[in-house]
Amino acid sequence: MKILIVEDEQKTGDYLRQGLSEAGFVVDLARDGADGLHLALSEHYDLVVLDVMLPTLDGWSVLQSIRNAGKNTPVLFLTARDQVEQRVKGLDLGADDYLVKPFAFSELLARVRSLLRRGKATEPEVLKAADLELDLLRRRVTRGGRRIELTAKEFALMELLLRRRGEVLPRSLIASQIWDMNFDSDTNVIEVALRRLRAKVDDDYEPKLIVTVRGMGYVLEVPESA
Ligand code: CA
Repeated sequence: MKILIVEDEQKTGDYLRQGLSEAGFVVDLARDGADGLHLALSEHYDLVVLDVMLPTLDGWSVLQSIRNAGKNTPVLFLTARDQVEQRVKGLDLGADDYLVKPFAFSELLARVRSLLRRGKATEPEVLKAADLELDLLRRRVTRGGRRIELTAKEFALMELLLRRRGEVLPRSLIASQIWDMNFDSDTNVIEVALRRLRAKVDDDYEPKLIVTVRGMGYVLEVPESA
């Protein structure tokens, strides 16, 4: 889990960086708004801790630019004064939570953990198509409530097909995503794996979900009637 701290006060910045590192996070620290924004847009972070009063670009502008760029990274605002206006402005601009300075580190850590959990909850833990269910956390697959045993590769293949349902996936794409193979590698491996996967998840069930598109690849489709 990677966290970006944007904080110009030396002591607070160092303290936060040290505390969050000790709590097991990978931490980057920016000392002003422009640097913070640059990092937030060019790197991937799971969370941004953002001070409001910053040199070069204030926290509000940083947040606005992050959201305008289409990034939904959770943002925890640090406000200097307990002013309703400041808090409302931050939340209006798309901050996820705020903390009023001075704060106890334990409180910050609790907020950080809660925001990270919330972020995860938006990712579905179970992917479904008709009566097929793939549980990402438990690594379990069922069809019509019956457990199906898949190998790790078959599970990854099933996940890929489900995530991109309705999309014809060329063998070359499947090869690069699941086997880390090149475009021109022997695609027989994929055909064999697909056949095995179908034998497990489609052969004994209706409707058939995995469809071969001749000369192109494979697609997961759920017929209208299902
Ligand atoms: Ca400041």
